[in-house]
Amino acid sequence: MTKAQLLKELSTLQNRVSELEIIEKEHRKLQEELKKRTNEFEERFAELKDHQARIQKNLLESEKRFQSLTDNSPIGILIVQKGQIIYENPVEKRLSGPLAQLFQHGKLENIHPDDFEKVDKEFQKIMSGEVKSIDMDFRYYPKGKEDDTHEMIWVHCWASLIEYLGEEAILVNKLDITRAKESEHLLRIEDKMASLGRVASGIAHEIRSPLSGINIFLNNLEKTLLEEKSQDKVKVILKQIRSASNKIEAVIRKVMDFAKPTEPRFILLDLNQPIEDAIDLSATALRMNGISLHKELAETLPLCQADPNLIEQVILNLISNAAEAMKSSEDAKQIHITSSARDDRIIVCISDSGPGVPFHLRKKIFDPFFTTKNGSTGIGLSLCQRIIIDHGGNLSVSTSKWGGAEFRVEIPIRRERKQG
Ligand code: ADP
Repeated sequence: MTKAQLLKELSTLQNRVSELEIIEKEHRKLQEELKKRTNEFEERFAELKDHQARIQKNLLESEKRFQSLTDNSPIGILIVQKGQIIYENPVEKRLSGPLAQLFQHGKLENIHPDDFEKVDKEFQKIMSGEVKSIDMDFRYYPKGKEDDTHEMIWVHCWASLIEYLGEEAILVNKLDITRAKESEHLLRIEDKMASLGRVASGIAHEIRSPLSGINIFLNNLEKTLLEEKSQDKVKVILKQIRSASNKIEAVIRKVMDFAKPTEPRFILLDLNQPIEDAIDLSATALRMNGISLHKELAETLPLCQADPNLIEQVILNLISNAAEAMKSSEDAKQIHITSSARDDRIIVCISDSGPGVPFHLRKKIFDPFFTTKNGSTGIGLSLCQRIIIDHGGNLSVSTSKWGGAEFRVEIPIRRERKQG
């Protein structure tokens, strides 16, 4: 090998060496970068693990919170999915007993017989998806003893369609309202007793004066019979006794009327007809007392099941009460009568420009024998209310546009059959 060749070889080797040096440098750089990245990755991984642990801890805590929330809720909670109960809180378990199986087997045997149909219908609706939520009160026997009323529970139940773990489910909430229902019942009894008290004192009040009259007349009669030529005097006293006894008889007849009112004879009827009849009948008396009557009756009313005579009697009574209320009024005396159909009801309003009914008397005026008038019986409104209730409707009082009284008669268009 010549010197020139050796030099060339040397230079090639030098080039290779410097190339290798560059490669080694690059390799070192890459190793450093790799170490750095690995460190970063490990840091990130540790962070992620930390994060995951935190999430898991939070999830556990939130589950615990949910658990303690539902465990301590006074409301019974259950979730039903695909006809199976997948969650029940302790209150629900205590409340429902075997009732919970209702969703698994379609059994409703513990439900109170009077509520059975309603509960069955409502649950079928929500389970078939026909409605999104239901809301009702019902009674049942947690231990299945239908005859043991002490074991009966009243619940208010809400159920709604929800999404649970990605699938459709029904969330049912139940609140034990047995105590509230019992107090409601007691209150109703108390209310009835108070009404009964007022009725009894009303009857006593009505009968007391003619009865003491009879006693006085009997004493007079006794004395008169001892006198000579007492015949004429006796006749007068007997007349007085008869009049007092007639008064007592009239009171008793009214009480009987109230206790056993005429059974309505329902026919399919345009309610405007008995209203018009009542207006015609009272027209002369109203005119004579300076009262103007304005009517605004619906042109066409849906026909409804009603007794025309009884409805006419109610409207007449309300018109005559309005007229009496305005008797001593100095201002214009006005009565306004309207009829209209709203939803499933026919509404008749009789308003007047009299003094109105004070708030504290708005319940009492419907009690038999309650009256604020001298020499009146106080039986009219209680009879009217009775008739309207027998029609499945409602009679209420509020304030008219003149600040007087407005009586509102509501009659259902379709009459529901009375139960029991
Ligand atoms: P009565 O007319 O014999 O008093 P009701 O039962 O018809 O018996 O009425 C009871 C009470 O209701 C009346 O005494 C009166 O105080 C009150 N009332 C009835 N209608 C009206 C009215 N339109 N405006 C003011 N008060 C009324």
